[in-house]
Amino acid sequence: MTMAIPIPAPSVSVFNADYSHLTQVDYRAAVSMLVRKVAYALELHDPPRVLRSPSFSIELPRSLMLTDYVHIPYRRLADHASRAEILDRDRRMCQFVGCGARATTIDHLLPRCRGGGNTWDNLVASCADCNGRKGDRTPAEAGMRLIREPFRPASV
Ligand SMILES: [Zn+2]
Repeated sequence: MTMAIPIPAPSVSVFNADYSHLTQVDYRAAVSMLVRKVAYALELHDPPRVLRSPSFSIELPRSLMLTDYVHIPYRRLADHASRAEILDRDRRMCQFVGCGARATTIDHLLPRCRGGGNTWDNLVASCADCNGRKGDRTPAEAGMRLIREPFRPASV
Protein backbone atom coordinates (compact mmCIF):
# COMPACT_ATOMS: atom_id res chain seq x y z
CA MET A 1 0.00 0.00 0.00
CA THR A 2 1.52 3.31 -1.02
CA MET A 3 0.31 6.44 0.62
CA ALA A 4 0.79 9.94 -0.62
CA ILE A 5 0.80 12.51 2.09
CA PRO A 6 0.25 16.05 0.88
CA ILE A 7 1.16 17.76 4.11
CA PRO A 8 4.24 17.82 6.31
CA ALA A 9 4.05 14.86 8.65
CA PRO A 10 4.51 15.98 12.22
CA SER A 11 5.50 13.52 14.87
CA VAL A 12 2.66 12.10 16.91
CA SER A 13 2.66 11.97 20.69
CA VAL A 14 1.86 8.59 22.20
CA PHE A 15 0.28 8.39 25.63
CA ASN A 16 0.00 5.34 27.82
CA ALA A 17 -3.49 4.28 28.89
CA ASP A 18 -3.02 6.27 32.11
CA TYR A 19 -2.40 9.47 30.09
CA SER A 20 1.32 9.52 30.85
CA HIS A 21 3.40 10.56 27.87
CA LEU A 22 5.45 7.70 26.45
CA THR A 23 7.12 8.75 23.25
CA GLN A 24 6.83 10.41 19.86
CA VAL A 25 6.34 8.37 16.72
CA ASP A 26 6.22 9.37 13.07
CA TYR A 27 2.95 9.32 11.20
CA ARG A 28 3.65 5.92 9.60
CA ALA A 29 4.04 4.30 12.99
CA ALA A 30 0.96 6.16 14.23
CA VAL A 31 -1.16 4.90 11.33
CA SER A 32 0.14 1.39 11.86
CA MET A 33 -0.87 1.53 15.52
CA LEU A 34 -4.35 2.76 14.61
CA VAL A 35 -4.80 0.04 11.99
CA ARG A 36 -3.65 -2.64 14.42
CA LYS A 37 -6.00 -1.15 17.03
CA VAL A 38 -3.28 -0.98 19.66
CA ALA A 39 -3.99 2.72 20.01
CA TYR A 40 -6.74 5.18 19.24
CA ALA A 41 -6.62 8.83 18.33
CA LEU A 42 -6.60 11.07 21.36
CA GLU A 43 -6.43 14.39 19.51
CA LEU A 44 -6.93 15.12 15.83
CA HIS A 45 -5.68 17.95 13.70
CA ASP A 46 -7.82 21.00 13.10
CA PRO A 47 -8.35 21.26 10.19
CA PRO A 48 -8.28 17.49 9.69
CA ARG A 49 -5.32 15.91 7.96
CA VAL A 50 -6.41 12.89 6.02
CA LEU A 51 -4.08 10.31 4.61
CA ARG A 52 -5.47 8.73 1.44
CA SER A 53 -4.56 5.88 -0.81
CA PRO A 54 -6.76 4.30 -3.49
CA SER A 55 -8.09 1.75 -1.04
CA PHE A 56 -7.74 3.46 2.27
CA SER A 57 -8.09 6.74 4.05
CA ILE A 58 -7.41 7.63 7.62
CA GLU A 59 -7.43 10.82 9.60
CA LEU A 60 -4.00 11.53 11.04
CA PRO A 61 -3.96 11.99 14.79
CA ARG A 62 -1.99 14.61 16.70
CA SER A 63 -1.73 12.20 19.58
CA LEU A 64 -2.53 8.60 20.33
CA MET A 65 -3.46 6.70 23.42
CA LEU A 66 -2.60 3.05 23.84
CA THR A 67 -5.58 0.74 24.08
CA ASP A 68 -3.94 -1.25 26.85
CA TYR A 69 -1.74 0.05 29.60
CA VAL A 70 1.92 -0.76 29.03
CA HIS A 71 3.99 -1.21 32.13
CA ILE A 72 7.29 0.62 31.76
CA PRO A 73 9.80 -0.78 34.23
CA TYR A 74 11.72 1.83 36.14
CA ARG A 75 15.22 1.70 34.76
CA ARG A 76 17.91 3.38 36.77
CA LEU A 77 20.67 5.19 34.97
CA ALA A 78 23.61 2.81 35.20
CA ASP A 79 26.04 5.32 36.68
CA HIS A 80 23.67 6.61 39.34
CA ALA A 81 24.13 5.70 42.96
CA SER A 82 21.83 6.12 45.91
CA ARG A 83 22.76 7.67 49.21
CA ALA A 84 22.65 4.26 50.91
CA GLU A 85 24.90 2.73 48.25
CA ILE A 86 27.52 5.45 48.71
CA LEU A 87 27.47 5.10 52.49
CA ASP A 88 27.92 1.34 52.11
CA ARG A 89 30.75 1.65 49.62
CA ASP A 90 32.60 4.13 51.85
CA ARG A 91 31.82 2.13 55.04
CA ARG A 92 30.18 5.20 56.54
CA MET A 93 33.54 6.90 57.00
CA CYS A 94 34.18 10.48 55.95
CA GLN A 95 36.32 10.23 52.82
CA PHE A 96 38.36 13.39 53.37
CA VAL A 97 41.98 12.94 54.39
CA GLY A 98 42.68 13.56 58.06
CA CYS A 99 39.07 13.46 59.18
CA GLY A 100 38.20 9.93 60.26
CA ALA A 101 34.74 10.93 61.46
CA ARG A 102 31.59 8.96 60.83
CA ALA A 103 29.89 10.03 57.61
CA THR A 104 26.35 11.25 57.91
CA THR A 105 26.09 13.10 54.60
CA ILE A 106 26.88 12.61 50.94
CA ASP A 107 29.16 15.11 49.25
CA HIS A 108 29.05 15.91 45.54
CA LEU A 109 32.68 16.37 44.47
CA LEU A 110 31.57 18.59 41.62
CA PRO A 111 28.67 20.38 43.32
CA ARG A 112 25.18 19.89 41.96
CA CYS A 113 24.83 23.61 41.38
CA ARG A 114 27.73 23.31 38.96
CA GLY A 115 26.33 20.33 37.10
CA GLY A 116 27.68 17.48 39.22
CA GLY A 117 25.54 14.36 39.03
CA ASN A 118 24.43 11.67 41.45
CA THR A 119 26.98 9.26 40.05
CA TRP A 120 29.36 6.77 41.61
CA ASP A 121 32.39 8.84 40.64
CA ASN A 122 30.96 12.13 41.90
CA LEU A 123 29.66 11.11 45.33
CA VAL A 124 31.51 10.36 48.53
CA ALA A 125 30.46 9.76 52.10
CA SER A 126 31.30 12.79 54.24
CA CYS A 127 30.82 14.06 57.73
CA ALA A 128 28.71 17.17 58.02
CA ASP A 129 31.70 19.33 58.99
CA CYS A 130 33.79 18.43 55.95
CA ASN A 131 30.77 18.72 53.67
CA GLY A 132 30.05 22.19 55.01
CA ARG A 133 33.66 23.27 54.84
CA LYS A 134 33.97 22.16 51.22
CA GLY A 135 30.75 23.94 50.27
CA ASP A 136 30.19 24.64 46.59
CA ARG A 137 33.79 23.93 45.68
CA THR A 138 35.67 20.95 44.34
CA PRO A 139 38.05 19.23 46.77
CA ALA A 140 41.00 20.82 44.97
CA GLU A 141 39.48 24.28 45.25
CA ALA A 142 38.84 23.70 48.94
CA GLY A 143 42.35 22.33 49.54
CA MET A 144 40.90 18.99 50.64
CA ARG A 145 41.98 15.53 49.53
CA LEU A 146 40.18 12.20 49.41
CA ILE A 147 41.46 9.06 51.07
CA ARG A 148 40.64 7.25 47.82
CA GLU A 149 39.05 8.08 44.49
CA PRO A 150 35.36 7.24 44.35
CA PHE A 151 34.55 4.25 42.19
CA ARG A 152 31.72 2.11 41.03
CA PRO A 153 31.77 -1.26 42.84
CA ALA A 154 32.13 -4.27 40.58
CA SER A 155 29.02 -5.81 42.11
CA VAL A 156 26.76 -3.01 40.89
ZN1 LIG B 1 34.97 14.71 57.64
